[in-house]
Amino acid sequence: MTFNRFSYGFLWILLFSLASPDHSPAESLPNFIIINCDDLGYGDLACFGHPAIATPHLDRMASEGMKLTQFYSAAPVCTPSRAALMTGRLPARSGMCSNKRRVLFPNSKGGLPASETTLAEALKSKDYATACIGKWHLGHLPDYLPTNHGFDDYFGIPYSNDMDRVAVAPKGRQAFREPSIDFWHVPLMRQTNIIERPADQTTITRLYTEEAIKFIQSHQEKPFFLYLAHSMPHIPLFRSAAFAGRSRSGIYGDVIEEIDWSVGRIMESLRSSDLAKNTLVIFTSDNGPWLIFDDHGGSAGLLRDGKGSTWEGGMREPTIAWWPGEIAPGSVGRDIASSMDLFATFHALAKIDLPNDRVLDSHDLTPMLLGQGASSRKTLFYYRGYKLMAVRMGPWKAHFITQDAYGPGSRQPIEHNPPLLFNLEVNPSERDAQNLAAQKPDLLARIQQVVAEHQANLQVATSQLENENL
Ligand code: MG
Repeated sequence: MTFNRFSYGFLWILLFSLASPDHSPAESLPNFIIINCDDLGYGDLACFGHPAIATPHLDRMASEGMKLTQFYSAAPVCTPSRAALMTGRLPARSGMCSNKRRVLFPNSKGGLPASETTLAEALKSKDYATACIGKWHLGHLPDYLPTNHGFDDYFGIPYSNDMDRVAVAPKGRQAFREPSIDFWHVPLMRQTNIIERPADQTTITRLYTEEAIKFIQSHQEKPFFLYLAHSMPHIPLFRSAAFAGRSRSGIYGDVIEEIDWSVGRIMESLRSSDLAKNTLVIFTSDNGPWLIFDDHGGSAGLLRDGKGSTWEGGMREPTIAWWPGEIAPGSVGRDIASSMDLFATFHALAKIDLPNDRVLDSHDLTPMLLGQGASSRKTLFYYRGYKLMAVRMGPWKAHFITQDAYGPGSRQPIEHNPPLLFNLEVNPSERDAQNLAAQKPDLLARIQQVVAEHQANLQVATSQLENENL
């Protein structure tokens, strides 16, 4: 075979095409990993201020990446929070919330509707490999499992690890104080099959980690999205033998230190596979700490209340973003951000158009993450089921209704008229004494206007969705 000028030209074009990132999806499209804990508090990590729990791997992740100090889940409980993260939409839009049951249970018949577009489905349009490992909690019946929502693979306990409690388990809180895996008949699933029941929860964090590393290592040539949703530190607390009694902070500390170990293993796997520079990792939680479980629940640090409430401790999460070479080491993102924003952010980074046939509640965080400017998110709506409890606008938060989940006061909803008004950047603990409503009537009027506009575009057939989904 002889080469003429045309052949050489063709060869150069071919070589250039192979070298060009635009033609090499593995190089041009980043991998995404979301590590989503269950009920982790804002104050539970050493790098977010915990004085006794050791989290060296998360601390390293933060020192090599960005700490997000005003990052929120979209709801103070599991199911709606997870639905919002997956869809970039408030749970009230997908129907994945409820004023009564609040989350899905093993006897629920529904789940995330097929009409919703998940992050995994979106990334599939760019041929990403996708895996969900851990707690799904968006429907455990076949139609609703991750493998029907864009994930190639699923491995995990499909709902909360305290469900399916057996009749012979100790009554009340006693079952949680001295937990045995036999007390909860929860299934461990692979794809759509139950492979173990009850799941051995003492090894669950380790198992999820091994599955995650297997997935990472088998997808080095193709972009991937890994959603690793730990079952811990939701009660009942379990950790493997290697972590029992290891923390200075009791069993809760042991559990967090095992999650920290897991993060370290995953980071090490990315480094040793040479994937670190092409992988964005987000570490966060679905809602705040379950304070009613005392030393088996975590800490919201300086934030007020915890899981179940729309005080800051219920929804602000200790969040870290890591992407060597792209996110500046040791940086801090102080803009308001939501787990719903991961939807638009991943679309932008994977060069996928956002769906235009539905209302989204998602803002692209890449300007903040990459140090190019502020996030476009200026408002945040705090829902309990379908009830709008509070709104944040810039540093200001107005509470229309409060309902404590913890503490000596009433657990009944309290309406505030005028709303309580706090400057969260001056008063992050939401101390009542710093209620500025009386001094800021014009600001409150502006906030009411923002709420009216928000509610005008939120059309939900509440009762119908409740019956269908939860
Ligand atoms: Mg949770």
